[in-house]
Amino acid sequence: MKIASEQEMLDFGKEFAKKVSPGQVIELLGDVGAGKTTFTRGLAEGLGVKESITSPSFTISKTYALPGGKNLVHYDFYRLPDPGLMSEDLSESIGNPNNIVIIEWADSVANLLPENHIKITISYNEDDTREVTL
Ligand code: ADP
Ligand code: MG
Repeated sequence: MKIASEQEMLDFGKEFAKKVSPGQVIELLGDVGAGKTTFTRGLAEGLGVKESITSPSFTISKTYALPGGKNLVHYDFYRLPDPGLMSEDLSESIGNPNNIVIIEWADSVANLLPENHIKITISYNEDDTREVTL
C-alpha cells in the first residue's frame, strides 16, 4: 500500500487502530526515517491518546493510558542492541492483556515476541512516498 505523505501515514495509523485490540503486539520494521513513529502517532490518536507521542529512543519505552483502563506501550530498541533488563520489562508488558504493545527495532528482542504478532513493514519508494506491507 502506497502512503504519499506524513498526513496519510497518520491517517493510516488512525484507521489501523480500529483493527487492534488489547493483548496484541505490533512490530514495526523499516529504516530510520521510514515513518514507524509517525504511524505510532496516528495509531495512538486513533486509540484515544490525547497527549503527543514522541520517539522513545532514549527512554526505550513509553506508556500511554487509553480509555477503559488499557494502555498503549511504545518501545524503541534502536539504541539498545543488548536489551538486558528491558527484556523483562517487555515480557511483562506483552503478558499484560490490557496492553497494546508496539515496537520499533525489535531485532534484539525477537525471541520475546509472540509468534502471531502483527508485522508492519515500511519502506521508501524512489519518489519519497512510503510502501506499507502488512
Ligand atoms: P522512524 O520512526 O521510522 O525512524 P519517523 O516517523 O520518526 O521515522 O520519521 C519519518 C519522517 O519522514 C517524518 O519526518 C515525516 O514527516 C517524514 N515523511 C515524509 N513522507 C512520509 C510518509 N509518506 N510517511 C511517513 N513519514 C513521512
Ligand atoms: Mg522512530
